Amino acid sequence: SSLFAAVEMAPRDPILGLNEQFNADPNPAKVNLGVGVYTDENGKLPLLKAVAAAEKLLLEAPKAKGYLPIDGIAAYDKAVQALVFGDDAVASGRIATVQALGGTGGLKIGADFLKRLNPGATVLISDPSWENHRALFTNAGFTVGTYPYFDAEAKGIAFDKMLAALNAAAAGTVVVLHACCHNPTGYDLTPAQWSEVIAAVKARGLVAFLDSAYQGFGDGIAEDGAVIRAFLEAGLNFFVSTSFSKSFSLYGERVGALSAVSGSKEEAGRVLSQLKIVIRTNYSNPPTFGATLVATVLTTPALRAQWEEELAGMRVRIKAMRGALVAKLQAAGVQQDLSFITRQKGMFSYSGLNAAQMQRLRGEFGIYGVDSGRICVAALNEKNLDAVVRGIAAVL
Ligand code: PMP
Repeated sequence: SSLFAAVEMAPRDPILGLNEQFNADPNPAKVNLGVGVYTDENGKLPLLKAVAAAEKLLLEAPKAKGYLPIDGIAAYDKAVQALVFGDDAVASGRIATVQALGGTGGLKIGADFLKRLNPGATVLISDPSWENHRALFTNAGFTVGTYPYFDAEAKGIAFDKMLAALNAAAAGTVVVLHACCHNPTGYDLTPAQWSEVIAAVKARGLVAFLDSAYQGFGDGIAEDGAVIRAFLEAGLNFFVSTSFSKSFSLYGERVGALSAVSGSKEEAGRVLSQLKIVIRTNYSNPPTFGATLVATVLTTPALRAQWEEELAGMRVRIKAMRGALVAKLQAAGVQQDLSFITRQKGMFSYSGLNAAQMQRLRGEFGIYGVDSGRICVAALNEKNLDAVVRGIAAVL
Protein backbone atom coordinates (compact mmCIF):
# COMPACT_ATOMS: atom_id res chain seq x y z
CA SER A 1 0.00 0.00 0.00
CA SER A 2 1.01 3.63 -0.29
CA LEU A 3 3.51 5.13 2.09
CA PHE A 4 0.87 7.73 2.84
CA ALA A 5 -2.10 5.40 3.26
CA ALA A 6 -2.41 6.13 6.97
CA VAL A 7 -1.92 9.90 6.69
CA GLU A 8 -4.87 11.70 8.20
CA MET A 9 -6.40 14.86 6.79
CA ALA A 10 -5.33 17.74 9.03
CA PRO A 11 -8.01 20.25 10.05
CA ARG A 12 -8.16 23.40 7.91
CA ASP A 13 -6.72 26.57 9.33
CA PRO A 14 -9.89 28.18 10.73
CA ILE A 15 -9.17 31.72 9.54
CA LEU A 16 -7.95 30.71 6.08
CA GLY A 17 -11.01 28.44 5.85
CA LEU A 18 -13.14 31.51 6.53
CA ASN A 19 -11.37 33.23 3.64
CA GLU A 20 -12.27 30.41 1.27
CA GLN A 21 -15.87 30.64 2.41
CA PHE A 22 -15.78 34.41 1.83
CA ASN A 23 -14.38 34.03 -1.68
CA ALA A 24 -17.11 31.53 -2.57
CA ASP A 25 -19.92 33.79 -1.25
CA PRO A 26 -21.84 35.35 -4.19
CA ASN A 27 -23.24 38.19 -2.01
CA PRO A 28 -22.03 41.43 -3.72
CA ALA A 29 -22.19 43.32 -0.39
CA LYS A 30 -19.94 40.84 1.45
CA VAL A 31 -17.26 42.21 3.80
CA ASN A 32 -14.22 40.28 4.98
CA LEU A 33 -13.35 41.14 8.59
CA GLY A 34 -11.78 37.73 9.18
CA VAL A 35 -8.10 37.85 8.24
CA GLY A 36 -5.63 40.15 9.95
CA VAL A 37 -4.75 42.37 7.03
CA TYR A 38 -4.86 46.17 6.89
CA THR A 39 -6.74 47.54 3.90
CA ASP A 40 -6.97 51.23 3.07
CA GLU A 41 -9.97 53.57 2.69
CA ASN A 42 -10.71 51.91 -0.67
CA GLY A 43 -10.56 48.41 0.76
CA LYS A 44 -7.21 47.78 -0.97
CA LEU A 45 -4.05 46.28 0.45
CA PRO A 46 -1.67 49.27 0.37
CA LEU A 47 1.75 49.40 -1.24
CA LEU A 48 3.44 51.96 1.00
CA LYS A 49 5.08 54.85 -0.86
CA ALA A 50 8.26 54.43 1.16
CA VAL A 51 8.39 50.76 0.17
CA ALA A 52 7.70 51.54 -3.49
CA ALA A 53 10.49 54.15 -3.45
CA ALA A 54 12.93 51.65 -1.93
CA GLU A 55 11.87 49.08 -4.51
CA LYS A 56 12.54 51.58 -7.30
CA LEU A 57 16.04 52.24 -5.94
CA LEU A 58 16.74 48.50 -5.95
CA LEU A 59 15.43 47.99 -9.48
CA GLU A 60 17.53 50.88 -10.76
CA ALA A 61 20.67 49.15 -9.54
CA PRO A 62 20.04 45.43 -10.02
CA LYS A 63 22.39 43.16 -8.14
CA ALA A 64 23.47 39.53 -8.51
CA LYS A 65 21.62 37.21 -6.15
CA GLY A 66 24.20 35.73 -3.83
CA TYR A 67 23.56 33.93 -0.57
CA LEU A 68 23.05 36.09 2.49
CA PRO A 69 24.86 35.35 5.73
CA ILE A 70 22.95 32.84 7.91
CA ASP A 71 21.72 35.61 10.22
CA GLY A 72 20.70 37.84 7.32
CA ILE A 73 21.65 41.31 6.13
CA ALA A 74 23.90 42.97 8.73
CA ALA A 75 22.51 46.46 8.06
CA TYR A 76 18.97 45.10 8.41
CA ASP A 77 19.67 43.35 11.71
CA LYS A 78 21.28 46.49 13.09
CA ALA A 79 18.46 48.79 11.94
CA VAL A 80 15.84 46.46 13.38
CA GLN A 81 17.67 46.24 16.69
CA ALA A 82 17.87 50.04 16.88
CA LEU A 83 14.16 50.35 16.07
CA VAL A 84 13.14 47.78 18.68
CA PHE A 85 15.58 48.53 21.50
CA GLY A 86 17.07 51.97 20.79
CA ASP A 87 20.58 53.04 19.74
CA ASP A 88 22.06 52.67 23.23
CA ALA A 89 21.07 49.04 23.36
CA VAL A 90 22.75 48.39 20.01
CA ALA A 91 25.95 49.99 21.32
CA SER A 92 25.95 47.67 24.35
CA GLY A 93 26.45 44.70 22.00
CA ARG A 94 24.48 42.39 24.26
CA ILE A 95 21.57 41.77 21.91
CA ALA A 96 21.73 39.16 19.15
CA THR A 97 19.32 39.96 16.28
CA VAL A 98 18.79 37.68 13.30
CA GLN A 99 16.67 38.21 10.19
CA ALA A 100 13.68 35.86 10.13
CA LEU A 101 10.86 34.76 7.84
CA GLY A 102 8.27 37.14 9.22
CA GLY A 103 7.26 37.26 12.84
CA THR A 104 6.33 33.59 12.66
CA GLY A 105 9.88 32.74 11.59
CA GLY A 106 11.26 34.75 14.50
CA LEU A 107 9.03 32.89 16.94
CA LYS A 108 10.12 29.54 15.50
CA ILE A 109 13.84 30.28 15.67
CA GLY A 110 13.38 31.35 19.29
CA ALA A 111 11.27 28.28 20.10
CA ASP A 112 13.83 25.87 18.60
CA PHE A 113 16.69 27.57 20.44
CA LEU A 114 14.76 27.55 23.74
CA LYS A 115 14.01 23.85 23.31
CA ARG A 116 17.74 23.12 23.20
CA LEU A 117 18.42 25.47 26.09
CA ASN A 118 15.72 24.23 28.44
CA PRO A 119 13.96 21.16 27.00
CA GLY A 120 11.75 20.65 30.06
CA ALA A 121 10.30 24.15 30.15
CA THR A 122 6.59 24.79 29.80
CA VAL A 123 5.34 27.58 27.54
CA LEU A 124 2.46 29.81 28.61
CA ILE A 125 0.47 31.80 26.08
CA SER A 126 -2.39 34.21 26.74
CA ASP A 127 -5.96 32.92 26.86
CA PRO A 128 -6.94 33.64 24.15
CA SER A 129 -3.97 34.19 21.85
CA TRP A 130 -3.02 34.18 18.19
CA GLU A 131 -3.82 30.54 17.39
CA ASN A 132 -0.42 29.83 15.85
CA HIS A 133 1.35 30.46 19.18
CA ARG A 134 0.03 27.20 20.58
CA ALA A 135 0.69 25.20 17.42
CA LEU A 136 4.16 26.62 16.88
CA PHE A 137 5.46 26.01 20.41
CA THR A 138 3.77 22.60 20.53
CA ASN A 139 5.46 21.63 17.28
CA ALA A 140 8.77 22.82 18.70
CA GLY A 141 8.30 20.15 21.39
CA PHE A 142 6.93 22.16 24.30
CA THR A 143 3.95 21.58 26.53
CA VAL A 144 1.86 24.71 26.04
CA GLY A 145 -0.45 26.08 28.71
CA THR A 146 -2.22 29.40 29.09
CA TYR A 147 -2.40 32.32 31.49
CA PRO A 148 -5.76 34.11 31.92
CA TYR A 149 -5.98 37.26 29.84
CA PHE A 150 -9.44 38.18 28.64
CA ASP A 151 -12.28 38.97 31.01
CA ALA A 152 -15.48 38.83 28.92
CA GLU A 153 -17.68 40.37 31.59
CA ALA A 154 -15.37 43.28 32.32
CA LYS A 155 -14.64 43.74 28.59
CA GLY A 156 -10.99 43.98 29.45
CA ILE A 157 -8.07 42.08 30.90
CA ALA A 158 -8.29 39.62 33.79
CA PHE A 159 -5.15 41.18 35.17
CA ASP A 160 -5.22 39.81 38.73
CA LYS A 161 -5.66 36.29 37.40
CA MET A 162 -2.95 36.80 34.80
CA LEU A 163 -0.50 38.00 37.45
CA ALA A 164 -1.42 35.15 39.79
CA ALA A 165 -0.72 32.64 37.00
CA LEU A 166 2.69 34.18 36.35
CA ASN A 167 3.49 34.15 40.06
CA ALA A 168 2.52 30.46 40.22
CA ALA A 169 4.67 29.45 37.22
CA ALA A 170 7.83 27.40 37.71
CA ALA A 171 11.20 29.07 37.18
CA GLY A 172 12.25 28.85 33.54
CA THR A 173 8.68 28.86 32.21
CA VAL A 174 8.52 30.64 28.88
CA VAL A 175 5.82 33.34 28.86
CA VAL A 176 4.70 34.56 25.46
CA LEU A 177 3.50 38.16 25.73
CA HIS A 178 2.00 40.40 23.06
CA ALA A 179 4.11 43.58 23.07
CA CYS A 180 1.16 45.66 21.84
CA CYS A 181 -2.16 45.39 19.99
CA HIS A 182 -3.11 42.02 21.46
CA ASN A 183 -4.37 39.52 18.89
CA PRO A 184 -7.25 38.61 19.06
CA THR A 185 -8.75 40.81 21.80
CA GLY A 186 -7.30 44.29 21.15
CA TYR A 187 -6.82 44.82 24.90
CA ASP A 188 -3.34 45.88 26.03
CA LEU A 189 -1.89 46.14 29.54
CA THR A 190 -1.32 49.60 30.99
CA PRO A 191 2.28 50.69 31.72
CA ALA A 192 1.61 50.12 35.45
CA GLN A 193 0.39 46.59 34.74
CA TRP A 194 3.44 45.91 32.58
CA SER A 195 5.63 46.94 35.54
CA GLU A 196 3.91 44.30 37.64
CA VAL A 197 4.40 41.69 34.92
CA ILE A 198 8.07 42.57 34.66
CA ALA A 199 8.45 42.29 38.44
CA ALA A 200 6.78 38.85 38.39
CA VAL A 201 8.96 37.65 35.50
CA LYS A 202 12.02 38.79 37.40
CA ALA A 203 11.00 37.43 40.79
CA ARG A 204 9.93 34.03 39.44
CA GLY A 205 12.82 33.60 36.98
CA LEU A 206 10.49 33.32 33.98
CA VAL A 207 11.60 33.71 30.37
CA ALA A 208 9.68 36.45 28.57
CA PHE A 209 9.13 36.05 24.85
CA LEU A 210 7.64 39.27 23.49
CA ASP A 211 5.79 38.95 20.22
CA SER A 212 5.89 42.34 18.49
CA ALA A 213 3.82 42.09 15.32
CA TYR A 214 2.08 45.47 15.39
CA GLN A 215 4.59 48.11 16.51
CA GLY A 216 3.19 51.46 15.41
CA PHE A 217 -0.44 50.34 15.18
CA GLY A 218 -1.29 51.09 18.82
CA ASP A 219 -0.19 54.53 19.99
CA GLY A 220 2.98 55.11 17.95
CA ILE A 221 6.32 53.50 17.16
CA ALA A 222 8.06 54.70 20.33
CA GLU A 223 4.96 54.32 22.52
CA ASP A 224 4.38 50.74 21.39
CA GLY A 225 8.06 49.93 21.83
CA ALA A 226 8.13 51.23 25.42
CA VAL A 227 7.24 47.81 26.83
CA ILE A 228 10.30 46.23 25.25
CA ARG A 229 12.53 48.97 26.64
CA ALA A 230 11.01 48.43 30.08
CA PHE A 231 12.05 44.76 29.95
CA LEU A 232 15.51 45.89 28.86
CA GLU A 233 15.80 48.40 31.69
CA ALA A 234 14.76 45.72 34.19
CA GLY A 235 17.97 43.89 33.30
CA LEU A 236 16.17 40.78 32.08
CA ASN A 237 17.31 38.26 29.48
CA PHE A 238 14.43 37.84 27.06
CA PHE A 239 13.36 37.32 23.47
CA VAL A 240 11.58 39.59 21.00
CA SER A 241 10.11 38.47 17.69
CA THR A 242 9.44 41.28 15.24
CA SER A 243 7.14 41.27 12.25
CA PHE A 244 7.08 43.89 9.48
CA SER A 245 4.22 42.21 7.67
CA LYS A 246 1.72 44.80 8.86
CA SER A 247 3.81 47.88 9.60
CA PHE A 248 5.39 47.83 6.11
CA SER A 249 2.46 46.09 4.41
CA LEU A 250 4.97 43.45 3.28
CA TYR A 251 2.94 40.35 4.16
CA GLY A 252 4.15 38.15 1.32
CA GLU A 253 7.83 39.10 1.52
CA ARG A 254 8.19 37.43 4.93
CA VAL A 255 10.23 40.05 6.75
CA GLY A 256 10.83 39.76 10.48
CA ALA A 257 13.47 39.18 13.11
CA LEU A 258 14.33 37.49 16.35
CA SER A 259 16.30 39.26 19.05
CA ALA A 260 17.73 37.66 22.18
CA VAL A 261 18.79 40.01 24.97
CA SER A 262 21.67 38.46 26.89
CA GLY A 263 23.87 39.51 29.76
CA SER A 264 26.99 40.64 27.92
CA LYS A 265 28.55 41.08 24.51
CA GLU A 266 30.45 37.85 24.90
CA GLU A 267 27.28 35.95 25.81
CA ALA A 268 25.42 37.49 22.88
CA GLY A 269 28.11 36.11 20.58
CA ARG A 270 27.55 32.58 21.88
CA VAL A 271 23.76 32.96 21.63
CA LEU A 272 24.08 34.23 18.05
CA SER A 273 26.19 31.19 17.13
CA GLN A 274 23.38 28.91 18.33
CA LEU A 275 20.63 30.90 16.60
CA LYS A 276 22.64 30.50 13.40
CA ILE A 277 22.66 26.72 13.83
CA VAL A 278 18.87 26.72 14.16
CA ILE A 279 18.57 28.75 10.95
CA ARG A 280 21.22 26.77 9.06
CA THR A 281 19.49 23.47 9.78
CA ASN A 282 16.04 24.77 8.84
CA TYR A 283 16.46 26.89 5.71
CA SER A 284 20.18 27.73 5.59
CA ASN A 285 19.82 31.50 5.14
CA PRO A 286 17.05 34.03 4.56
CA PRO A 287 15.89 35.73 1.34
CA THR A 288 17.21 39.13 0.27
CA PHE A 289 14.41 41.21 -1.19
CA GLY A 290 12.03 42.15 1.63
CA ALA A 291 14.72 42.76 4.21
CA THR A 292 16.65 44.94 1.75
CA LEU A 293 13.52 47.06 1.30
CA VAL A 294 13.03 47.44 5.07
CA ALA A 295 16.71 48.17 5.69
CA THR A 296 16.68 50.80 2.93
CA VAL A 297 13.60 52.49 4.38
CA LEU A 298 14.84 52.38 7.98
CA THR A 299 18.30 53.77 7.14
CA THR A 300 17.38 56.41 4.52
CA PRO A 301 16.12 59.44 6.47
CA ALA A 302 13.63 60.68 3.85
CA LEU A 303 12.15 57.21 3.34
CA ARG A 304 12.05 56.59 7.05
CA ALA A 305 10.14 59.81 7.65
CA GLN A 306 7.74 58.83 4.89
CA TRP A 307 7.23 55.35 6.37
CA GLU A 308 6.57 56.77 9.84
CA GLU A 309 3.99 59.09 8.32
CA GLU A 310 2.31 56.29 6.40
CA LEU A 311 2.28 54.02 9.46
CA ALA A 312 0.72 56.88 11.46
CA GLY A 313 -1.87 57.19 8.69
CA MET A 314 -2.83 53.53 9.07
CA ARG A 315 -3.00 53.88 12.86
CA VAL A 316 -5.15 57.02 12.71
CA ARG A 317 -7.50 55.52 10.11
CA ILE A 318 -8.08 52.42 12.25
CA LYS A 319 -8.86 54.63 15.27
CA ALA A 320 -11.29 56.69 13.20
CA MET A 321 -13.04 53.50 12.05
CA ARG A 322 -13.36 52.31 15.67
CA GLY A 323 -14.97 55.61 16.62
CA ALA A 324 -17.27 55.62 13.58
CA LEU A 325 -18.32 52.01 14.19
CA VAL A 326 -19.38 52.80 17.76
CA ALA A 327 -21.11 56.06 16.81
CA LYS A 328 -23.03 54.48 13.95
CA LEU A 329 -24.07 51.44 16.00
CA GLN A 330 -25.39 53.75 18.66
CA ALA A 331 -27.18 55.86 16.03
CA ALA A 332 -28.70 52.62 14.74
CA GLY A 333 -30.31 52.11 18.12
CA VAL A 334 -27.87 49.77 19.84
CA GLN A 335 -28.22 50.43 23.57
CA GLN A 336 -25.20 48.58 24.96
CA ASP A 337 -22.10 50.53 25.98
CA LEU A 338 -19.69 49.88 23.12
CA SER A 339 -16.96 52.29 24.23
CA PHE A 340 -14.68 49.28 24.81
CA ILE A 341 -14.21 49.15 21.02
CA THR A 342 -12.44 52.51 21.11
CA ARG A 343 -10.28 51.46 24.07
CA GLN A 344 -8.94 48.47 22.16
CA LYS A 345 -5.69 48.84 20.18
CA GLY A 346 -4.49 47.64 16.83
CA MET A 347 -6.12 45.76 14.01
CA PHE A 348 -8.54 43.63 15.99
CA SER A 349 -11.60 43.97 18.15
CA TYR A 350 -13.18 41.38 20.32
CA SER A 351 -16.63 42.67 19.46
CA GLY A 352 -18.44 40.87 22.25
CA LEU A 353 -20.57 38.99 19.70
CA ASN A 354 -20.97 35.27 20.31
CA ALA A 355 -20.51 32.43 17.81
CA ALA A 356 -24.21 32.28 16.92
CA GLN A 357 -24.25 36.03 16.20
CA MET A 358 -21.06 35.80 14.12
CA GLN A 359 -22.59 32.96 12.10
CA ARG A 360 -25.76 34.99 11.53
CA LEU A 361 -23.62 37.92 10.39
CA ARG A 362 -21.99 35.64 7.82
CA GLY A 363 -25.11 33.82 6.68
CA GLU A 364 -27.55 36.72 6.49
CA PHE A 365 -25.32 39.72 5.85
CA GLY A 366 -22.15 38.34 4.22
CA ILE A 367 -20.05 39.87 7.00
CA TYR A 368 -17.21 37.54 7.84
CA GLY A 369 -15.56 37.59 11.25
CA VAL A 370 -14.21 34.84 13.48
CA ASP A 371 -16.62 32.81 15.64
CA SER A 372 -14.80 34.09 18.75
CA GLY A 373 -16.26 37.51 17.94
CA ARG A 374 -12.98 38.85 16.59
CA ILE A 375 -13.36 41.35 13.78
CA CYS A 376 -10.56 43.08 11.89
CA VAL A 377 -11.33 46.78 12.30
CA ALA A 378 -8.41 47.54 9.94
CA ALA A 379 -10.61 46.21 7.12
CA LEU A 380 -13.42 48.70 7.81
CA ASN A 381 -13.81 51.72 5.51
CA GLU A 382 -16.39 54.37 4.64
CA LYS A 383 -17.75 52.12 1.90
CA ASN A 384 -18.41 48.99 3.96
CA LEU A 385 -19.08 50.53 7.38
CA ASP A 386 -22.83 51.02 6.93
CA ALA A 387 -23.34 47.42 5.83
CA VAL A 388 -21.32 46.19 8.83
CA VAL A 389 -23.30 48.43 11.19
CA ARG A 390 -26.60 47.20 9.76
CA GLY A 391 -25.55 43.59 10.26
CA ILE A 392 -24.18 43.98 13.78
CA ALA A 393 -27.16 46.07 14.91
CA ALA A 394 -29.49 43.35 13.61
CA VAL A 395 -27.77 40.43 15.35
CA LEU A 396 -27.12 42.19 18.67
N1 PMP B 1 2.26 37.24 16.04
C1 PMP B 1 1.03 37.73 16.04
C2 PMP B 1 0.41 38.10 17.34
C3 PMP B 1 0.34 37.92 14.85
O1 PMP B 1 -0.89 38.42 14.86
C4 PMP B 1 0.98 37.58 13.63
C5 PMP B 1 0.33 37.78 12.30
N2 PMP B 1 -1.00 37.46 12.18
C6 PMP B 1 2.26 37.06 13.68
C7 PMP B 1 2.87 36.90 14.90
C8 PMP B 1 2.97 36.59 12.46
O2 PMP B 1 3.37 37.56 11.60
P1 PMP B 1 4.06 37.21 10.21
O3 PMP B 1 2.98 37.20 9.20
O4 PMP B 1 5.04 38.29 10.02
O5 PMP B 1 4.71 35.87 10.33
